[in-house]
Amino acid sequence: MTEEIRCFGCGAVIQSEDEKKIGFVPKNALNKDVILCKRCFRLKNYHELQKTSLTNDDFLKILQEIGNHNCLVVYIVDLFDYNGSIINGLTRHLNNNDILVVGNKRDVLPKSVKDIKIEHWLRRQLKESGIKPVDVILSSAVKNYNLDLLIDKIEQYRNNRNVYVVGVTNVGKSSLINALLKHYSQSENLITTSEFPGTTLDLIEIPLDDDSYLYDSPGIINEHQIAHLVKDEDLKIIIPKSELRPISYQLNSQQTLYFGGLARLDYIKGEKTSFTCFFPKRLKINRTKLSNGDALYNRHLTLQPEIESIKDINDMAVHVFKLPNYKVDIVISGLGFVSINCPGGNIKIHAPKSVGVFIREALI
Ligand code: GDP
Repeated sequence: MTEEIRCFGCGAVIQSEDEKKIGFVPKNALNKDVILCKRCFRLKNYHELQKTSLTNDDFLKILQEIGNHNCLVVYIVDLFDYNGSIINGLTRHLNNNDILVVGNKRDVLPKSVKDIKIEHWLRRQLKESGIKPVDVILSSAVKNYNLDLLIDKIEQYRNNRNVYVVGVTNVGKSSLINALLKHYSQSENLITTSEFPGTTLDLIEIPLDDDSYLYDSPGIINEHQIAHLVKDEDLKIIIPKSELRPISYQLNSQQTLYFGGLARLDYIKGEKTSFTCFFPKRLKINRTKLSNGDALYNRHLTLQPEIESIKDINDMAVHVFKLPNYKVDIVISGLGFVSINCPGGNIKIHAPKSVGVFIREALI
């Protein structure tokens, strides 16, 4: 029997027959020590994305398979994009398995906010999604934050069982697994991570001890992520690599802020107020009069990055908020948030239809 060779990046079974199918490696590249499929090779060396072909159905099969095992599930969410991190039907398919939730990208949220506050917020979100975790921890894969704690918690809750890691693409699952790999296998060869959504295809198996394993499941695309709407070259503008930068604008009513060409805030009614905007450093914010707002968008010149599929501002979804008498954040999931204390004020947000927009008690 020939041994199955797997791609070191995505875990797909290597084949040299069909270039269009996953796991393809040309025959003359098969003798390398570390084998990467064509897709991972191009991703790693040229930062070029070939989209994953994993369908929702295939992903559900994997979830159901996990549900058939008595195991610990580690569910990774992006703290900066909770809506974009949701896996539909997760608890239904997992059959009451223990779930340890990891809120990743802690470094993107302001340092001045205490972890406990973010943790409570995350627990409330999970409750609303019907998830009852055995525990919740915050992490940062890029800043190596709480990774030792994550390893301790995995050991604490797995009780000698296997561990399955699940998460949608782009939440930092590969980055976290790489960190775990370093710990568990002391391996120098790490799996692929990239700026692009959708990098993991098949189950990667990491030995934990003599008879249990940690499995990395493929990421599934969550269409609610704003990352899926922008061009590949614009991902670097919207995927934050560090803490969001707050900028305050004193706005009168009838003024508008554009966040690149991706979303817009209209201050409809209220006293002159400070709007503190927490967005990725590279995203340009433009201020204009509300009466100029539509024309500015529809001219397609000034506002970058833009979403090619949305030609007219009226094709965006509109969310209207009447502000309560305490400080709130208006969150545009996966893009940023605006902190406002303006009792009775009226705000309107334009954002792409798939992107979550909501109001929460202010983090800061
Ligand atoms: P996956 O698709 O879930 O496997 O995600 P990746 O590990 O490929 O990460 C997606 C993007 O998020 C990459 O640009 C990573 O550098 C970035 N990323 C991952 N973890 C973190 C984190 O903890 N903080 C920040 N700021 N970025 C992260």
